[in-house]
Amino acid sequence: MHNILLLGGTSQASALARLLADQGIAATLSYAGRTDKPMSQPIAVRVGGFGGVAGLVDYLLGHRVTHLIDATHPFAATMSAHAVEAARLTGVAHVTLTRPAWRAEEGDRWTHVPDIAGAVAALAGPPRRVMLALGRMHVDAFAAQPQHHYLLRFVDAPSEPPRLPHHSLIVDRGPFALEGDRELMQAHAIDLVVTKNAGGTGAQAKIIAARQLNLPVLMIDRPALPARTELHAPDDVMHWLDHAAPSVADRGV
Ligand code: NAP
Repeated sequence: MHNILLLGGTSQASALARLLADQGIAATLSYAGRTDKPMSQPIAVRVGGFGGVAGLVDYLLGHRVTHLIDATHPFAATMSAHAVEAARLTGVAHVTLTRPAWRAEEGDRWTHVPDIAGAVAALAGPPRRVMLALGRMHVDAFAAQPQHHYLLRFVDAPSEPPRLPHHSLIVDRGPFALEGDRELMQAHAIDLVVTKNAGGTGAQAKIIAARQLNLPVLMIDRPALPARTELHAPDDVMHWLDHAAPSVADRGV
């Protein structure tokens, strides 16, 4: 019998939750608890951190989890590293569901930076009109470059206003359409887009819109992670579940 722990917080995790429910496979979706109203799900949901690697190990053993599926955002590097380590310690079968990173195409004007700090540093200079498509977690770091006007887009209205002296804030949940993002950039006279390399289609509209409008993009590259098996589509994970070596719990050890 499978008993899945699915680490979520992405639309791919929600898509996989639907497939698991359709197949009647026992599974729990785990959220960090960062958004106020997570989407309702067709499988059991738990919310909140586990308490580091040790807490995750306890959870996996205590709940007799057979398969750990990491479908967190590619920038959730701490959780993903914990998943690798907890799976190693417990022998629970482990796989990652993640979208391939975006790659620059003809017409793209990308500058790569390794992390948020790199993006902040790259913004030194005269005032610009910047679309900061990062979510609310990392926005305060950009207060170090207060000269710019920032266009922000968050899933939830923040409880406190962002600490950026010049900004416009839009509250909206993806996926976003190309036309809408292009119009948004034009309406706000954006001259630079800052984004993480999330991959996938749901967040890609802004990248294509920037290409079409000939706007430069500051691309924050993905964090490095320990070696692990990565699959790109929810269907691939279903196939893996059918064929993955049984984990320690599956073997009744
Ligand atoms: P992170 O830095 O890798 O994780 C920090 C801590 O949050 C983890 O150590 C863990 O706490 C807890 N955590 C993270 N994901 C969790 C999950 N799915 N279930 C239970 N606990 C979780 O992660 P993050 O960048 O803050 O992202 C948090 C959540 O937002 C993730 O679910 C991610 O998929 C989603 N998200 C992130 C981004 C992004 O750009 N980072 C974008 C969209 C969505 P403990 O150590 O206590 O277990």
